[in-house]
Amino acid sequence: MKEFLTNKINNLPASATLAMAAKARELKNKGIDIIGLSLGEPDFNVPEFIKKAANKAIDDNYNSYTPVDGYLDLKEAISKKFIRDNNLNYNTNQIVVSTGAKQSIANIIQAMVNPGEEVILLAPFWVSYSAIVEMAEGIPVVVNSDITTDFKVSAKNIEKKINENTKMIVLNSPNNPSGTVYTEEELRNIATVLEKYPDIFILSDEIYEHINYGVKHFSFAEIDSMYNRTITVNGVAKAFAMTGWRIGYIGAPEWIAKACTKLQGQVTSGANCIAQKATIAALEAEVSQITYMIDEFNQRKKLIIDLLSKIDGLILNNPDGAFYIFPDVSKFFGKTIMGFKIENSSDFAMFLLEKAYVATVTGEAFGCPDNIRISYAASKENIIEAVKRIKSVLS
Ligand code: GLU
Repeated sequence: MKEFLTNKINNLPASATLAMAAKARELKNKGIDIIGLSLGEPDFNVPEFIKKAANKAIDDNYNSYTPVDGYLDLKEAISKKFIRDNNLNYNTNQIVVSTGAKQSIANIIQAMVNPGEEVILLAPFWVSYSAIVEMAEGIPVVVNSDITTDFKVSAKNIEKKINENTKMIVLNSPNNPSGTVYTEEELRNIATVLEKYPDIFILSDEIYEHINYGVKHFSFAEIDSMYNRTITVNGVAKAFAMTGWRIGYIGAPEWIAKACTKLQGQVTSGANCIAQKATIAALEAEVSQITYMIDEFNQRKKLIIDLLSKIDGLILNNPDGAFYIFPDVSKFFGKTIMGFKIENSSDFAMFLLEKAYVATVTGEAFGCPDNIRISYAASKENIIEAVKRIKSVLS
């Protein structure tokens, strides 16, 4: 039946993160004791005050279609959040609420990238950026990095990829999958280059803003010369353990927000009513209400790095944010272990799944074929057991 599908869908890769999670789930359902370290999903419960707001919305009969760009009171809460946390002024006409930050990103790229236009991605980049660009018939152009520079890309290397076809650059700090957090100075250096190219837009994906253990988060749109051409993407999934509630949002120049609203109005309409009301409670809360989760992630990060550093052959770094580590596993390429031939990071991830029953994600999906992504948004017991298994199959 494949020939009846469009070329676009036939050529579209499945999301590697979701595919691995589905595979792990399938094996679990068969009774195999898989430890899932593939999905970037906090394992905490949604905080009680957010659940309360959701229950209240149900009791108050919030059932109807929502405004396409989001409830006004939610957009007001987002506007205040942007001022409080990011020093950014976005009025409610500059804000669009969507069904997850993934939809926010898809809206922006569909609305702004014409066929043949180039979008610069800094490797490692989140799996769906390249797929979404390709769906818009844009061309992803990748700037490479590796673990020796903590996966940071210099402004100079970005400039080398700019040409008259460049439409957009995607920035993502804290980064998925590497956990890298760019400093204000590094972001200002990138802005200095972009100042020379006024027709390039910047999508700044800041969904991991609060999952940060050291370097102060800096929003790209805070740079005056960048504000009018930056779209700031954020959401509640990661910071408030609300992945399944699917609420993302953007702050953008009004004309871009309007375009995204028009598109969303033809595709999904407004985001879920109950989740929007719950998001108001999340965003109005003091950031200190979620510190316990960040502290726990930080402890788990230290734990997993400490345990993995005892395994010969893995090259690790110590990221400042998100809940992933992204070790270089290339020393294992070309080896056959337990009868399993490992040629690349996809093989390595599959080897860990089949032999150690630990689910991770291949770095190939993120544009870094020497690495694998391990999520430590899992309990300490699971982290300890997973690394024990990994160590055992690798020795
Ligand atoms: N963003 C998360 C991840 O990278 C969720 C899965 C997805 O949408 O890719 O694991």
